[in-house]
Amino acid sequence: MTNIKYDNNNIFAKILRKEAKANIVFENDYILCFTDIFPKAPVHVLIVPKGQFKDIFDFSLNASSDEKNAIYDGISKVIEIFGLETDGCRIISNFGKHGRQEVSHLHFHLLGGRDIGTMIS
Ligand code: AMP
Repeated sequence: MTNIKYDNNNIFAKILRKEAKANIVFENDYILCFTDIFPKAPVHVLIVPKGQFKDIFDFSLNASSDEKNAIYDGISKVIEIFGLETDGCRIISNFGKHGRQEVSHLHFHLLGGRDIGTMIS
C-alpha cells in the first residue's frame, strides 16, 4: 500500500462534487464518464469511479464488487454511445510515477475513433 492519502482537492474530486465543469457523457450511482479536456483521439472519455480511490491499486484493494462492476458498465456504455463496437478502442489506467499518473483519482482513459497506434512507442 502507498501511504499517500487521497487528496480531496484534485480536479476530478471537484468535478464529482459539481464544483468544476465537465462534459458528461454517462453517469450512474458509481461512475461519472466525461470527455478529456485535452483529447488524444476523436473519442477520449475518462471513466471515473465516484468513490475516493487514488489509483487502480487502491481501487483493487478497497473497492466493493459493485464499484468494480460499474467500471465495466461505463466501458460498455461509452463504447455504445460512440459506436466503437466494430472498430474497437483502447482503455488505459495510469498508475503512479512510472505510469505517469497526473490526476490522483482513479480514472480509465477510453480512446477511440481512429487507430490508436502501437501501445508504447
Ligand atoms: P493521467 O495522466 O492518467 O492522470 O491523466 C489525467 C487526464 O486528465 C489528462 O488526460 C488530462 O487531459 C485530463 N484532465 C485534466 N483536467 C481535466 C478536466 N478538468 N476535465 C477533463 N479532463 C481533464
